[in-house]
This record gives sequence, structure tokens and C-alpha cells, in this order.
Amino acid sequence: MNIRGLSLIGSKVGAPGGAKFQAFDPAAGKSLDPVFQSASAAELEQAVRLADAAAPAWAKLSGAERNRFLRLVADKLDQHAAELAARAVAETGLALARCTGEIARTSGQLRLYGEAAVRGDWLDARIETALPDRKPLPKPDHRSLLRPIGPVVVFGSSNFPFAYSVAGGDTASAFAAGCPVIVKAHPAHPGAGELVGQLIAEAVRECGLPEGSFSLLFDAGFGAGQALVQHPMVKAVGFTGSLAGGRKLADLAAARPEPIPVYAEMGSINPVFILPGALAERSAAMVDGLHASATLGMGQFCTNPGLIVLQRSPAAEEFVRALAAKLTATPEAAMLTPGIRKNYATGTAARTQQPGVKVIAEAKSTAACGAAPVWFEASAATFLGTPGLSAEIFGPSSLVVWCRDGAEMLEVARHLEGSLTATLQAGAVEAAAQGGLVDVLAAKAGRLVLNGYPTGVEVSHAMVHGGPYPAASDGGRSTSVGTRALNRWVRLVCYQNFPDTLLPAELQNTNPLGLLRLVNGDFTRTGV
Ligand code: NAP
Repeated sequence: MNIRGLSLIGSKVGAPGGAKFQAFDPAAGKSLDPVFQSASAAELEQAVRLADAAAPAWAKLSGAERNRFLRLVADKLDQHAAELAARAVAETGLALARCTGEIARTSGQLRLYGEAAVRGDWLDARIETALPDRKPLPKPDHRSLLRPIGPVVVFGSSNFPFAYSVAGGDTASAFAAGCPVIVKAHPAHPGAGELVGQLIAEAVRECGLPEGSFSLLFDAGFGAGQALVQHPMVKAVGFTGSLAGGRKLADLAAARPEPIPVYAEMGSINPVFILPGALAERSAAMVDGLHASATLGMGQFCTNPGLIVLQRSPAAEEFVRALAAKLTATPEAAMLTPGIRKNYATGTAARTQQPGVKVIAEAKSTAACGAAPVWFEASAATFLGTPGLSAEIFGPSSLVVWCRDGAEMLEVARHLEGSLTATLQAGAVEAAAQGGLVDVLAAKAGRLVLNGYPTGVEVSHAMVHGGPYPAASDGGRSTSVGTRALNRWVRLVCYQNFPDTLLPAELQNTNPLGLLRLVNGDFTRTGV
């Protein structure tokens, strides 16, 4: 495959001529060929118009047809895995095994969402049959389900070149739900993005789908992304990235004449509460486990444990000393982009200056794009009184918060903002009697982890990857990972007094698709 550095506008390749940018190899510290050209305003308009024109056909595709397309994209990713991984390694500095594993996760995700499209249980089909003789008024026949929302715009993140990128979870779930997709490519890995985009475009052609099914736009700045969010034909947005970026796009969408939903999965500090019993039972194992979780991918994970909350005791102090020694000995690694490296340096330098905050571990970092762990500690009183300490520092930096006792731990938990995850490390007896900590944390996070670590997000039917603001922009009512992700790209429609012939197959009397439906209050697969 050949990387051209040009956008994909439906079945056509964009023209050269826009503002230019290049991918950057953070490990080698040099720019990579080719030069990428930003999409023009006319190309953006064309991509959106094509998606709008394709939307009715996509809404009519059966689950089986969407599945066939998603499986074809997955097969193509697997067939080209070596080439895709090699380019992603060069553009991100991530290890080859990580990139290869992420491609397998991405193709698995595409297949899982394809199966969900066929199963159709998420459509929430409900039927209330008519009662013409009901007094004082007859009850009408009414039937409802979720229908595709229309063209979706997807913004991938820098730290997952595949799983949260061009063919990542947002794109796969939007296709599975029956929506055309326009991706704004992330400039941190544009070459890998273009290769994946070419494979999706091939699959569109081979499945005979409308050309507006998919477009991929490059842009050297924020203009194209913001114009997409504001375009009247765009009906929903999926975003994975920083709080600043997600909030900006959500605000733009809310200010449109017709506001649209923005599902922004943003930063998170992922607190870990460690109770005394856990320290007594497995302190050494937790040093290794927490270190591995906090330094995975040099801390560049949205689920990185950024806040460690403990009650002060000799055992807790010994635990933190051992962890700090391991962190200090951690070798540096390249960060994903010079911009992320700069933000990391600025964020850690600012935290060093905070009154009441002390550095407890600082590993050596000398390479221009390199970073290594910098950890801090503060008292619960300092944490509670300093709003800036609740902010995510994207990278291998965390804050240890010292509490006097369980009551102060609970106060810290109540003070937290929304997070993607919250972790409780507890001893065997403590887990059942933690004084309400679990209930407080359940109000703060989308996923609660017991005696584990927050990194590593399983793609499954039950997974929740979202949370109250600022972890996500929708108050934690959706997930960007797992099959519930499809529910973001649909809206409810009720058909009242429609004859069978005019109803979608999902709501017809004989239940031709064999869906599990709520019929007059009972779940059943039998017909009406
Ligand atoms: P980012 O800088 O926000 O970039 C994400 C995408 O949004 C990029 O395409 C970016 O374009 C665009 N963008 C950012 N600000 C924008 C604005 N004001 N207007 C228009 N477009 C804008 O985030 P990132 O560096 O890729 O990722 C790091 C962050 O993502 C961390 O905070 C991490 O925790 C979070 N993250 C969250 C999850 C999750 O699932 N919740 C997963 C992974 C990462 P440009 O690149 O052109 O700036």
C-alpha cells in the first residue's frame, strides 16, 4: 500500500494544495514522509454531502449486511497487520508488539460490533398491541425501536493509533448502528490512519455500499474538525482525547442552531484507594502491580492511575517508599508526540511548585522526546484545598494523597470529579465493610475495579468506558467501549397504528429477524 498524504473523500482522493504537515518519529526525533495535505473546505463539504446522501441507504441495511462489511474491514486489517504496525511504530514510538496487539484488538472489536448488528438486541424493540375496546379511550397499536441517527464524525486519539482511531471503536460502533462515518484523522499517526482509511474505502467498494459511507479528512489545525462539528448535515460526534479538545467540540455542538450529541471520552485521574488490610496482605505485589499499571505505555493511557489514596501508617509509608524506588529506576521512553512531551514537562513542573506538594520519585529523562515517572505526594487537606491537584497530567505522573483515617479517605472520595475508573484495594475482610466507600466511588466513575488495576479495558458486552464529567461529556450515560457503544448513534422512533407492511422488519408481527422484543410488557422472541 502507498501512503499518499491525501484525504479520502468518499471514493475519491483529495487534491493537493492545503496546509501541509508531516508525521513525526518521536523515537528517532525526525519527520517522516510523505507530506500530508489538509482537506479543502470544498472537500469537507463534499464528504459531508456524500455522507448525508448515504445515510438513508445505511439506515435500511440489515444487520447481516453491516456485519459483512465490518468483518471485511476486520479481515483487511488482519491481512495488512505487519504493514500497519510498522508505520504506527514509526509514527508513535510505541513497541511493535503493542501495535500488533492493538490491530488484533481493533479487528476483534469490528467483528464483535458486527455480531451485535446482527443480533439487534440493542435496538430495544417494543410492541404494545392495540386495545380497540378499552374504555374510556381505545389504546392504539404502537411500536418503537432505535434507528440510526445519520452521519457521524469521529475524532481519534493520539495514544491508540488503531483501537481509538480511523477504524476504532467509535467508527465500528457507528457503522454497526447504521450510520455513515467521517473521520478527522489524528496528526500523531496520519500514515497509519490513511492506510486503515484505504482499507475501509476498499471494503465500501467491495460491499457495493454508497461512496458516502466513509471519508477521512486530514487537517494541519483545528479548522476542519470544528467545521465538521458545526455542519448542519452532521448528526453526532465521537471524540477521544483531551478535556480541552472534547469540551471545545461539545460547546460548539451545543451552540449550533440544531444542537447535536457529542460523545467525548476525555481525561481522567482514575483514583486508587488502598485500605490498610490490602497493605497487610500483599504490599509487595501491589508495588509491582501499581508500578506496571502506572508506567504502561509511559503512562499515556486514559485509565492511568493518577491518584493514590492511603491512610498514613508505617506499612503505608514503607509501601510508598518501595514504589517510589521502583519508579525512580524506571527507564525513560519516548512520548507519543513532542506536544504531549511538552505538556507533560509543563504539568509536572507546575505541580512541583504547588505549596504542600512534594516530589517522591523522579526518574532520569534526557532524550528530547523522552519522559520518565515523576510522582508527588500531598496531605488530604492540601488535596482538598487545591483544585489543580484534581487535573490529569497525561503521562507517568501520579499524586499520593495521605489521609489520617477512613473518614478522611471518604472525604477525598466525595471531593473527586468524574473518572473513567475508580479502584479499591482492600483486604479480605475490609472489602465487605469499607464504610460506604464503594457507594461514593460508584457515583464518581464508570468502572469500579476491586483488587486490580485500572489499565486494560476489555471489549465486551458488559464493559463501561465512560463516566461523569470530566471523564465524558454526557454525564456517564454511555460507553465508548463494548457493545453498548452502538446506543450512542441511534434515536428513538415510535410507529403508531402502522400496518405490518409499513413497519421495519424489527417490529413486524411475525418477528422475521427473531429479535428479543418487549411485547405487551413481556420479553419474547415469538411473534405477535
Ligand atoms: P487531543 O489533543 O484532544 O486530540 C484529539 C483530537 O481532537 C485530535 O484530532 C485533535 O486535533 C482534535 N482536537 C483537539 N482539540 C481540538 C479543538 N480545540 N478543536 C478541534 N479539534 C481539536 O487529545 P490526544 O493528545 O489525542 O490524547 C490525549 C488525551 O486523550 C489524554 O487526556 C487522555 O487521557 C485522553 N484519552 C482519553 C481516552 C478515553 O477513552 N477517555 C482514551 C485515550 C486518550 P489535533 O491533533 O489536530 O490537535
